Amino acid sequence: MTDVRELARAFRASVPTDDPVEFLRARFDAGLAWVHYPAGLGGLGLPREQQAIVDEELAGTPSNDPRRIGIGLGMAAPTVLRHGTPEQRRRFLRPLWTGEELWCQLFSEPGAGSDLAGLATRAVRDGDGWRVTGQKVWTSMAHRARWAILLARTDPDLPKHRGLTYFVCDMTAPGVDVRPLRQLTGEAEFNEVFLTDVFLPDDLRLGAVGEGWAVARTTLMNERVSIGGGSLPRGGGLIGMLTSLWTDRPDVRTAAAHDEMMRLWVAAEAARLTGVRARQQLAAGDPGPEGSAVKLAFAELAQRITGLELELRGAEGLRHDDWTMRHGEAVDFEGRSPTYRWLRAKGTSIEGGTSEILRNIIAERVLGLPAEPRTDTTVPWRELPR
Ligand SMILES: Cc1cc2nc3c(=O)[nH]c(=O)nc-3n(C[C@H](O)[C@H](O)[C@H](O)COP(=O)(O)OP(=O)(O)OC[C@H]3O[C@@H](n4cnc5c(N)ncnc54)[C@H](O)[C@@H]3O)c2cc1C
Repeated sequence: MTDVRELARAFRASVPTDDPVEFLRARFDAGLAWVHYPAGLGGLGLPREQQAIVDEELAGTPSNDPRRIGIGLGMAAPTVLRHGTPEQRRRFLRPLWTGEELWCQLFSEPGAGSDLAGLATRAVRDGDGWRVTGQKVWTSMAHRARWAILLARTDPDLPKHRGLTYFVCDMTAPGVDVRPLRQLTGEAEFNEVFLTDVFLPDDLRLGAVGEGWAVARTTLMNERVSIGGGSLPRGGGLIGMLTSLWTDRPDVRTAAAHDEMMRLWVAAEAARLTGVRARQQLAAGDPGPEGSAVKLAFAELAQRITGLELELRGAEGLRHDDWTMRHGEAVDFEGRSPTYRWLRAKGTSIEGGTSEILRNIIAERVLGLPAEPRTDTTVPWRELPR
């Protein structure tokens, strides 16, 4: 059996480079990027849990900011690994992991967010490739991204789930226009993206023509685990910040807040442990629909915890740190002010699937309750009212 601790120690001793990118490339090539990925693709085919050992041994060495590469890491990588050709895996995974190429997700549209399968962006065959035209919205990181995962309609005569195809979009291709959208916090983390006659060669198609929905489901299930299931220590993250405030500032405590504080701590710990289980499930094979429960719990907790923090801090808590429109790289829950956290948490119950939709998924696919009546699954997309 591979002793991953020994491997990581030997790697650390033999690769003294301080150049962060060179170091990350070498780490990928040694199979110590994500140990559960196959050999040759940054991994060693080992159980996912062993990654923690590697991370411990390589602590303090050059690393990439997981918030900066979050979409690539959490969504694009598992989708490319599962549905990509060997050539696509070789091409995309290494620079994705080293952070040399950032990714974004071109899924949501003005008329198709929760009803993702209703999307209207068209991809039409053109010789050995495709011409893509349409509009996407709320695209986090599009202004920095080199590549995007893109869902487009290739057959409007089929019912909405069946006429979709999944592509990797070249964000530098002519016809890709990225425009910032300012949000509640003042930042423009996300953008509108206009695609006008963008040519994508067929080797940027991920999965078979018309199979885009199945590919997108891999992305969506991973997205929910990756949004909700980050590996936090007990009492870490937002609940940790709230607990510190409670401990350090006796002047802000009240009896009513004490009860809410306890409820939140218990709920945060339950959500954290559910996240641990969801990641074990992910390691064992596919992330199940249960990942939706993790994302739902984290989103609701983020709003309640940041709300209680503002309440405890009173007027002082309402001071926003910076209203400059920044076209930033990452969500910064821990580095910014309480107001930023509270405002930014509003989006957690929308991004990656709204809480209402996640409850539908849990009801139907985890609990087996009757499904919402649907009248549009057999009708050609072209005939659906829009
Ligand atoms: C901060 C942030 C970042 C984002 N980043 C990205 C990104 O990088 N890439 C990307 O593609 N998208 C991104 N999104 C978009 C996000 O995924 C969508 O906003 C989300 O899926 C909801 O779609 P919608 O906004 O069109 O709302 P709608 O689908 O119009 O929904 C409106 C309301 O109706 C409810 N609703 C709709 N249908 C049902 C139903 N069947 N049952 C019960 N309730 C229902 C919804 O839950 C919601 O409350 C981001 C959003 C946010 C807030």
